[in-house]
Amino acid sequence: MSVTGTLYIVSAPSGAGKSSLIKALLEQTQGNALQVSVSHTTRDPRPGEVNGQHYHFVGKAEFQQMIAQDDFFEWAEVFGNFYGTSKKAIEASLAQGIDVFLDIDWQGARQVKQLMPASKGIFILPPSREALEQRLQNRGQDSDDVIAKRMAEAQSEMSHYNEYDFLIINDDFEQAVAEFGAIIQGQRLNTERQSALHHVSLAQLLA
Ligand code: GDP
Ligand code: ADP
Ligand code: 5GP
Repeated sequence: MSVTGTLYIVSAPSGAGKSSLIKALLEQTQGNALQVSVSHTTRDPRPGEVNGQHYHFVGKAEFQQMIAQDDFFEWAEVFGNFYGTSKKAIEASLAQGIDVFLDIDWQGARQVKQLMPASKGIFILPPSREALEQRLQNRGQDSDDVIAKRMAEAQSEMSHYNEYDFLIINDDFEQAVAEFGAIIQGQRLNTERQSALHHVSLAQLLA
């Protein structure tokens, strides 16, 4: 019996620590059937961002063509740029039993929940607005203009937190990573998945 992976939708206002939490969890659970889906985006790469690793950076025309070809599982316009998850980025991994994280906004999350009701949504909030702004500034990768735009959008992004299955307040980073890991662990212990994984020993136990 094969076990398919769980699709996790992770959303947060920009700067809440989503990317850092996902990165920390992947480092801790190295090789443990977890991966992040690499989105396509039309925004410019930030310093240090690698094409194919952080995002597939594409032009608007290429993005539109992918929409026309039905290559996307979901896509949305965020902060004036297009972002999308290609079907390729997730389908093969889930089929192999790998859990996949989507780092996407609430619009994408809604689409994914409809397409795949078994997916699990995790929302990440900062402890305060001040902390959020501080983090965007500390990250040092966006201009003042971009930071102002992201702060302005934060309120509306945050208002969607109750559409998600889980909520993490990222105040103490280590605690937030532990809570994040606990969600994944708990999900992996659900009876349907455990029965499929251990069907031989269960059959012997109950014979
Ligand atoms: P950061 O999360 O603030 O570091 O900024 P990013 O540029 O990485 O992401 C910008 C926005 O696009 C965020 O709201 C993401 O959640 C969203 N986003 C990223 N990838 C996807 C995707 O594949 N699909 C959708 N729908 N949203 C995405
Ligand atoms: P997002 O992906 O949600 O936009 P990032 O992961 O890039 O956010 O985090 C934004 C900034 O805040 C980064 O500089 C990161 O190091 C920092 N950060 C993340 N979590 C915490 C935390 N719990 N306490 C303090 N700073 C944090
Ligand atoms: P950033 O420009 O800071 O990398 O991302 C901005 C926002 O876009 C983040 O909130 C991120 O989650 C979202 N985002 C990134 N990739 C995708 C995607 O493929 N689809 C959707 N819907 N949103 C995305």
